[in-house]
Amino acid sequence: MEIVVASGNKGKLKEIEAFFGCKVIAFKELVGDLEIEENGTSFAQNALIKAKAIYDLIDKDKYIVISDDSGISVEALNLEPNIYSARYAGIGASDKENLQKVVDGLNAKNIESSKAYYTAAIAIVSKWGEYVVHGWMHGDVINTPRGENGFGYDPIFIPNGFNKTLGELEDDVKKELSHRSKALNLAKPIIDMLGRRADD
Ligand code: IMP
Repeated sequence: MEIVVASGNKGKLKEIEAFFGCKVIAFKELVGDLEIEENGTSFAQNALIKAKAIYDLIDKDKYIVISDDSGISVEALNLEPNIYSARYAGIGASDKENLQKVVDGLNAKNIESSKAYYTAAIAIVSKWGEYVVHGWMHGDVINTPRGENGFGYDPIFIPNGFNKTLGELEDDVKKELSHRSKALNLAKPIIDMLGRRADD
């Protein structure tokens, strides 16, 4: 049984691959480019929408699909951008433009930082059922991006207990702390169980 990841986001794929320590298959390798409308009202719904859309198109005896829907919620911005993190500055906006909108939001309120948290929902879709697990990472966002590591909002996010942004911290540190790792840790026993069922 092989794991297909229903995401084209290079940052996410890299972190998911690092977590499992083996190659996972990006959905594009199997089904090519596909626009999936994420019209759910929660991270969990959007994660399931993505995983099911890919699962419908592939060999159900051979693969399971996992997807990640994630984003950041900023207290000073009424918990925006939340599920709209990928399109905060508009549909098709770049990571830099989305990050800049958070920075502009802080500056408009004359504040340098705000409490914030990342959420990740991981959906798993297989012929034995559908599952969703969550993970969170809490910290602060700041109005001055620092560092080049990670992706998305990482240059403005300082995890609790640190004084550097995820853009400045090593990938291994993020791997220990992240919302995605926490959700993947919960997904692992489910995936292992599905693997054993596939071997039966
Ligand atoms: P999705 O691909 O629709 O789930 O969108 C995720 C959005 O949240 C993108 O804008 C990402 O940049 C952002 N995001 C999710 N997880 C992370 C992370 O670990 N670091 C930085 N940004 C993230």
